[in-house]
Amino acid sequence: MTDGDSNHYDLIIIGGGMVGASLAIALGGGPLRIALLEAVPFRADAQPSYDDRAIALAYGTRRIFAGMGVWDALGAETTPIHSIHISDRGHFGFTRLDCRDEGVEALGYVAVSRAMGAVLADRLEQLPNVQVLCPAPVTNVVIGSDHAEVVIDDGAQSRRLTAKLVVAADGANSQVRDWLGIATQRWEYGQTAVITNITPQRPHNHRAYERFTTSGPLALLPMSENRCSVVWTVRSQDADGILGLDEAAFLAALQARFGGRLGDFLRVGVRRAYPLMMVRAKEHVRTRLALIGNAAHTLHPVAGQGFNLGLRDVAVLAEVLSDAAAAGRDIGDLEVLQAYAQWRRRDHFKMIAFTDGLARVFANPLAPLRALRNAGLLAVDLMPFVKHTLTRHTMGLAGKLPRLARGLSLMQPSKDFTATQFPHPNPLPSRGTKVPKGEGEQVKRG
Ligand SMILES: Cc1cc2nc3c(=O)[nH]c(=O)nc-3n(C[C@H](O)[C@H](O)[C@H](O)COP(=O)(O)OP(=O)(O)OC[C@H]3O[C@@H](n4cnc5c(N)ncnc54)[C@H](O)[C@@H]3O)c2cc1C
Repeated sequence: MTDGDSNHYDLIIIGGGMVGASLAIALGGGPLRIALLEAVPFRADAQPSYDDRAIALAYGTRRIFAGMGVWDALGAETTPIHSIHISDRGHFGFTRLDCRDEGVEALGYVAVSRAMGAVLADRLEQLPNVQVLCPAPVTNVVIGSDHAEVVIDDGAQSRRLTAKLVVAADGANSQVRDWLGIATQRWEYGQTAVITNITPQRPHNHRAYERFTTSGPLALLPMSENRCSVVWTVRSQDADGILGLDEAAFLAALQARFGGRLGDFLRVGVRRAYPLMMVRAKEHVRTRLALIGNAAHTLHPVAGQGFNLGLRDVAVLAEVLSDAAAAGRDIGDLEVLQAYAQWRRRDHFKMIAFTDGLARVFANPLAPLRALRNAGLLAVDLMPFVKHTLTRHTMGLAGKLPRLARGLSLMQPSKDFTATQFPHPNPLPSRGTKVPKGEGEQVKRG
């Protein structure tokens, strides 16, 4: 294995879903030679990452995509969210978040993941340093001290690739985690998200709705042609019944959950179901290995944060790797990768706790808890500072932001990336510095 070997790369990304493809693009045009390995073709109906799901992209995500040079193409596929209305079905508490209070043109944007996949795939074709291998199902990974080895096997042919660093972006049921014996914290919510889109009688006016019900949250997101994307969380034992309803009965059941704010629901699209779980890998880096996106953390979709969190992994890892490569460091070195893991730890911990807490507290029918959460929603509505803080977090603008999250390209000369002007929260340790083993705050079940 040499650097001139066509099967040797600086970086191999396993999984070309929304997060893995984004990492390849973020590092596109740079010095690293990258292979992106994806099992299912980007535009295939069976592509699990690019399906009919509508994804709420946070404002911070827009900035990262802008820094990556893809927002112009992606933005054209999105519908802006100007305000969010949060309420608890059958109770008085509610709060509203508005883009005008934050001084931005939108709190977020809604994109269908299939359309995002098409934009990302087009961009990948333009990157000279990124080789996309697809279909390329990975069947094994072995981590050595000098390099990592990855086996692709499509049943007809087997191929071995090597790299200084492997990034696992292979989703919630990551096989890379299993092959390398990385333990997870994992629990099922006993809930299933039924997704579809509906056309309401009244204009949505670019408002998103998050409505908490005793069986789980119900979200409506604004889309083009006055459609709304629906994420209806139901008890898993009720999912088949709800999926099996005819269109009129489905619309009536949904209307009963949501109420009359948007008038009658007139039309409904295709329905799909996703069982919901929380998964968190207990290690996010090892020598020559990093985990990103759903392979590192899979969240309840209650607050629409899973992909946004994964894209922030991308922004930080891309920055750490670019800086390491520019400094002549080995990008698979544990010290380099620890800088990524430590920078991301707080955001992961907060988002898991936030989404898990929301999913549990609002699904609980106990009267004292119900009163508390109603008081909580009202308090948020009445206290501008609390509301502002909540909004900044869900917009992905809280904490120390990597260059891409400030809309800057990684390829720009990083003269603002100095200790004085933009201190790195966890600067790359110099060689020889001891980095503590084990990185992750433990997330306790609530
Ligand atoms: C109902 C629902 C609604 C959601 N809404 C939102 C939202 O509004 N906002 C938000 O931010 N997030 C949302 N999410 C979360 C979001 O969909 C995920 O966080 C995101 O898809 C994770 O992307 P990923 O690339 O990490 O993983 P995935 O999307 O799972 O992609 C993994 C990729 O790896 C490939 N792969 C797997 N194994 C192999 C292998 N062995 N070899 C090669 N390739 C492999 C797969 O084919 C796939 O393409 C929602 C999730 C659900 C279920």
